[in-house]
Amino acid sequence: MFHPGSAKDYSREQIVTAVADGMREAAQGLSGSLKLLIENTAGQGSVLGSTLEELAEIRSQAQAGLDFEVGYCLDTCHSFAAGYDLASEAGLELFIQKADALLRLERVPVIHANDSKGGLGSRLDRHEHIGEGLIGDAAFGRLLNHPKMMTKAFILETPVDSPEDQSRDINKLKELCRKSPTVRKTSK
Ligand SMILES: [Zn+2]
Repeated sequence: MFHPGSAKDYSREQIVTAVADGMREAAQGLSGSLKLLIENTAGQGSVLGSTLEELAEIRSQAQAGLDFEVGYCLDTCHSFAAGYDLASEAGLELFIQKADALLRLERVPVIHANDSKGGLGSRLDRHEHIGEGLIGDAAFGRLLNHPKMMTKAFILETPVDSPEDQSRDINKLKELCRKSPTVRKTSK
């Protein structure tokens, strides 16, 4: 799993091709069950991969010539900071639909679950504890329990300032899973 990097002085077209070439070079001789996941970014500066379209373009260029599958990891904080409104019900639905259409959700095995210190479209990559940022509890509840997200692995990358921080965030996600009406529906 990796961030695709920064364009600096190069054009988008040049850099997308350079990243795809780099992936193929790094993966020489590798095959089998290995999976390379491109993670979306918040889009700070000239960072690549903040739009779903760009992620799809990098993958399609890289996949030709690789003997294993290239997929994606979507980070909730990065998506929100890049301008995808995961905090609202309609915004989350739109994001999931777009991700399915452009990336295909079966190619997204992992979600990085991070709340965001930065606002919608702020392009700030600043992770926050679940429910304490601008994405919020309700939105994580909707995401965790979305029918299209049931098989995804959720990985936390929230700040660990004190030893109990991590278990608090894990317990928060578990609690939000239990609370959801979707879960109750599917368990009938
Ligand atoms: Zn991440």
